[in-house]
Amino acid sequence: MLILAGADIVLADRVVTRGTVVIEGRRILEVRPGDVSGSAADVRVDLAGYYVLPGFIDVHVHGVAGHDVLDGPAAVSSIAAKLPRYGVTAFCPTTVACMPERLRMALAAVQAARVSPKPGSARVLPAHLESNFINPEYRGAQPVECLRRPPHPGEPERPPPAAQSSQGYGAAEILAEIARARPDVGIVTLAPELEHAMPLVQHLAGQGHRVALGHSAATYEQTLAAIASGARHATHLFNRMPPINHRVPGLAGAVLASDEVAAELICDGYHVHPSMVRVAIAAKSPSRVMAITDGTAGSGMPAGSRGSLGGQPITVKDSAAFLDDGTLAGSVWTMDRAYAVLVSQVGLSLPDAALLCSTTPARELGLTGMGTIAAGAFADLVVLSNRFAVAQTYVGGELVYDAKG
Ligand SMILES: [Zn+2]
Repeated sequence: MLILAGADIVLADRVVTRGTVVIEGRRILEVRPGDVSGSAADVRVDLAGYYVLPGFIDVHVHGVAGHDVLDGPAAVSSIAAKLPRYGVTAFCPTTVACMPERLRMALAAVQAARVSPKPGSARVLPAHLESNFINPEYRGAQPVECLRRPPHPGEPERPPPAAQSSQGYGAAEILAEIARARPDVGIVTLAPELEHAMPLVQHLAGQGHRVALGHSAATYEQTLAAIASGARHATHLFNRMPPINHRVPGLAGAVLASDEVAAELICDGYHVHPSMVRVAIAAKSPSRVMAITDGTAGSGMPAGSRGSLGGQPITVKDSAAFLDDGTLAGSVWTMDRAYAVLVSQVGLSLPDAALLCSTTPARELGLTGMGTIAAGAFADLVVLSNRFAVAQTYVGGELVYDAKG
């Protein structure tokens, strides 16, 4: 058995001070106050002065440490290998709008990483596609030449072979790639106000995907219609959508007011002001909000570093990542720092911040046995110092990152 002793253990509703987590194999056997004696065969880690939390789960991350999900076949596994240093134990590799061949490559990499996970890595979850079906006016850093309209209802899912070329692709080719990789596609972000978007929402939700509303100027009414059609997720709430107005609530207002929808929030202290993070959490409760990084290849890199986002060059600045034309292109943040922002700047309790960073994303994605510290759950854990620096990360009871020595 593996015994993590003496740490303050962050549970969903309280912190157990100087407690013990007992791990057997891949799962947690017991969580208790005080110490356990154990036997000579047990491995014991003294964590006095540290916090133990459920491992962070990032449902929206494009890359880290110089790697972008769309860079090539090795990118997803490279990202999975880097993320434990930031306390991440599971993540959704996230793509920007791209051509079908590139999407196929990325989804094949996601499948390979899921079928044969590499030791020492974060778990690779089904991908999050910031899809081709977003509003060009709210595309942000997504390449406009890759955006498409949803298909006419009744259009065949697979196009005739003659229609397939890398330049002349349409909605059907994109949907064919999604269909080809169905189990490896989790979240699909789209703009519900586009023509024929509602049947697409119904189709994707019916196929088991998690439809997310984002990069969109949907009205309040259009948003409610999309929710009625099966959308259950809002992509980086407040970013790349019209600002909220008390007479014109729009997409953001509808998401804040709708219990059916869980919302992502970029918790880097820059994309969303900490006070608006607080407002959103107060409106929806910590169990309906997911902290995300929207991290890029620039995350974990010093200011001035270069990287790419879906093949477009980006530059790391102190605040975020930017395209060469100055467009904001995602964050340079990591989940350990998101947790610190939630506690230090937003003012959440340690358990509530852990709900946003782990428990809520796990439950929303249906990840049974993840996102919680409890007997029987997977031993996916992050150990933080009292200044929220990552000391250790465990995935399924395996120590995958160790800065403690
Ligand atoms: Zn985005």
